Amino acid sequence: MDFIDLKSQYLASRELINGRIQAVLDHGQYIMGPEVAELEDRLAAYTGARHCITVSSGTEALVIALMALGVKPGDEVITTPFSFIATAEAIVLLGATPVFADVEAGTGNLDHRLLEARITPRTRAIIPVSLYGQPADMDEINAVAEGHGLAVIEDAAQSFGATYRGRKSCNLSTIGCTSFFPSKPLGCYGDGGALFTSDDSLATAMREIRVHGQSRRYVHTRIGVGGRMDTLQCAVVLAKLDRFDWEIEQRQRAAASYHDLLGGQLASLGCRADRSSAWAQYTVLAPQRARLQELLQAAGIPTAVHYPVPIDQQPAYAHWASPGGCPVAASLAHEVLSLPMGPYLDRPSAHRVAQALAGALAMLGLQEAGGKAA
Ligand SMILES: *Cc1c(COP(=O)(O)O)cnc(C)c1O
Repeated sequence: MDFIDLKSQYLASRELINGRIQAVLDHGQYIMGPEVAELEDRLAAYTGARHCITVSSGTEALVIALMALGVKPGDEVITTPFSFIATAEAIVLLGATPVFADVEAGTGNLDHRLLEARITPRTRAIIPVSLYGQPADMDEINAVAEGHGLAVIEDAAQSFGATYRGRKSCNLSTIGCTSFFPSKPLGCYGDGGALFTSDDSLATAMREIRVHGQSRRYVHTRIGVGGRMDTLQCAVVLAKLDRFDWEIEQRQRAAASYHDLLGGQLASLGCRADRSSAWAQYTVLAPQRARLQELLQAAGIPTAVHYPVPIDQQPAYAHWASPGGCPVAASLAHEVLSLPMGPYLDRPSAHRVAQALAGALAMLGLQEAGGKAA
C-alpha cells in the first residue's frame, strides 16, 4: 500500500496527461506558454476568485503574496506554528517577524480567539493555514483582521477543492495561496503553486513580482523574483483538473470509511459541518505513536507525521516563540498520525488499515472496550 497512490491516478488519466505534455513539446513554449493562461482561467473560475496567478511553488506563492502586500523588515505577521515550515519561512525571508498563535485541539487550525491578543501596531497580516485540507475559521479571522486593517493570506496548500460556507478555499480572504506539489490534493509532476485574489491591484503586483517585478519587457517597476510555473507543469494540472471533483468526492468517501471503521478506536481531527475538507491527510491522534507507527509499518501500512515539531520549537525559529508557547500545537505534534489517503484508496484498503490499527492497538494494550474492531 502506498501512503499516497500517485500511480493509480496517473494510470486513470494517462492519455489525457500524456496528450497535454506532448502538446507542450510540440509547440515548444516552455515558459509562459498558452497552458499557463488556460490554467489560470480555469482555476480562477473554479474558486470564484477574480484572478489566479500561477507560480513556481506554494512557498513562492506565500513569499510573493507578502511582497505584494508590502510586508517589510520590522513588520509582524501572525500565523500558526502547526504547519509545514514554509508558512513561517516566507515571513522570515522578508525580514518580518512571525508571531505564533496557538491552534484548536479539534482541528489543528489557528484559534481565532487568540488573535486579538497578538496584534500590535506592527502587525500587517494574518496567515491561517487550512490544515490537512480543512479551511480554517475564515469568517472569524477575517473579522478580526478587518477591525485592525490587516490582510489575510489563506495558506491553502493542502485545501484546494475544499469549501467553507458555500465558497471555495483560496477565495476566502485577501489572498489565497496553494501548492501543486505532487502529493497535494491537486498536484503536478514537479513544483508549482498559485495565488488567488479578487483585488485588481494586488493581482497586478503579484503578476509583476512573479517575473522580476517587470511591468513590460525590461521595465522593472518593482522588486520581484523568478517565480513562474513551467508550461509543462500547468499542462499536467490541466489534465488532472477534469477528474478533480470526482477525486475530491472519493477522498470524502475514503475519509467517511475511515470514520466508520475507526470510530470507537482513535480520535481523529474531524471536519466541521459548515465546511468540507479536501482531505489532503486523514489524521488520527495516536497514543504511543512511535510504537504504533512501527507496528503499522510491519503490517505493511505506511503512515506519516505532519508535523512532529511545531515551527515555534524548531531550532531556527524558537527565538520567535510567543511567551507561554503554543501548548495545543505542542501536544498535537506529539500525537498526530496520518494514514494512507487519496482518491484511489478503496473501502477494502481502508478496511485493511483499520484492521492493522486495531491489531496494533490491541498489542499495545490500548484498545478501548467497545471499540469497533474492523
Ligand atoms: C506544501 C505546503 C507548502 C509549500 O508548498 P510547496 O509547493 O512545497 O512549496 C506551504 N504550506 C503548507 C501548509 C504546505 O502543506
